[in-house]
Amino acid sequence: MATSQRDYYELLGVSRSADDAEIKKAFRGLARTLHPDVSQAPDAEERFREVVEAYEVLSKPETRQLYDRYGHAGLQGGGFAPTTFDVGSLSDLFSAFFGDDIFGGGGRVRRERGSDVVAQIEIELAEAASGTTRNLPFPVTITCATCGGSGAKPGTEPVTCATCSGRGRLQQVTRTAFGEFVRSQTCPACAGQGTVVQDPCLDCEGSGRTVEDRTLEVEVPPGIHDGQQIRMSGEGHAGSLGGRAGDVYVQVRVTPDPRFVREGNDIFCSVDLTMTDAALGTTVKVPTLEGEIDLELEPGTQPGKLHVLRGKGMPVLQGFGRGDQRVLVNVQVPRRLTDDQRRLLEEFGQSASEETYEADEGFFQKLKSAFR
Ligand SMILES: [Zn+2]
Ligand SMILES: [Zn+2]
Repeated sequence: MATSQRDYYELLGVSRSADDAEIKKAFRGLARTLHPDVSQAPDAEERFREVVEAYEVLSKPETRQLYDRYGHAGLQGGGFAPTTFDVGSLSDLFSAFFGDDIFGGGGRVRRERGSDVVAQIEIELAEAASGTTRNLPFPVTITCATCGGSGAKPGTEPVTCATCSGRGRLQQVTRTAFGEFVRSQTCPACAGQGTVVQDPCLDCEGSGRTVEDRTLEVEVPPGIHDGQQIRMSGEGHAGSLGGRAGDVYVQVRVTPDPRFVREGNDIFCSVDLTMTDAALGTTVKVPTLEGEIDLELEPGTQPGKLHVLRGKGMPVLQGFGRGDQRVLVNVQVPRRLTDDQRRLLEEFGQSASEETYEADEGFFQKLKSAFR
């Protein structure tokens, strides 16, 4: 029984006077966009089957005539049943309908792209800031130099595959009530290449590929973030039959620097001041990504005070400028006092007044501004 009651000409989007070429062209176009391999639409398979059915009917003069005269009823009366088929791969269906491969290659296996190589390198935060290079050694598959990738011993040639007569594909014909349905599959004897190697190359054992140790110089751009990947196009494993080589993906791990916390392009650090240095003012050494610098702190520096070193953060990856470095001041309060020290502090405490501690901004306000 026919699965579709819709008008076949409408389904293919052709006029009733369309010739064979127009029908074929319309079907090809529709099949390409509707095949479930391609279309994401939920009803893609159903629509695809309708279009195939319409093409089956309109592409054969007998069924087309029946349909033109008596419509769907005429076809049923004439014993027509649409071919049942698996919605397999699009290229299989095209070889079935047209005896060709829409992806080219004349029915032969496509040249395959080589595999990618995935590697990892570790760099320091300071190296991420300045940019760096790393040598990356890895084994890679290359085209065999002895046989040029054919797999045949030098002086010999691969011979035509006897199983498929060099076509690379085998066709299986199924008879149905409606007609012949041809399925084609990759020739198992030659894996679709159409040729077989009789005298294998000794260096690659007939595979056409060998393994070589290669060292790549990986350039890490300034400003890279932990976990980002660098892609090196075409540096991966060789493809088969002269197909394009794969890529190398280098994942960059930036090891945490105990002195800094990175947030985007900004970095944070803290400096410890003694209580007396904070009260009297001092100059401290502050680590930056490019070495230590002197930072002057005024008398009465409060815990939670934030100093922003403009442009001392990480460079913007593939951009301009740099982030900032934020320096958070911590004030250390003495924990173990001698008797003398305790007496001195008690004296100081008695002499101090509210004015001594007058604040311009609370600690919590400072802390909040540290996190913007
Ligand atoms: Zn070889
Ligand atoms: Zn074959």
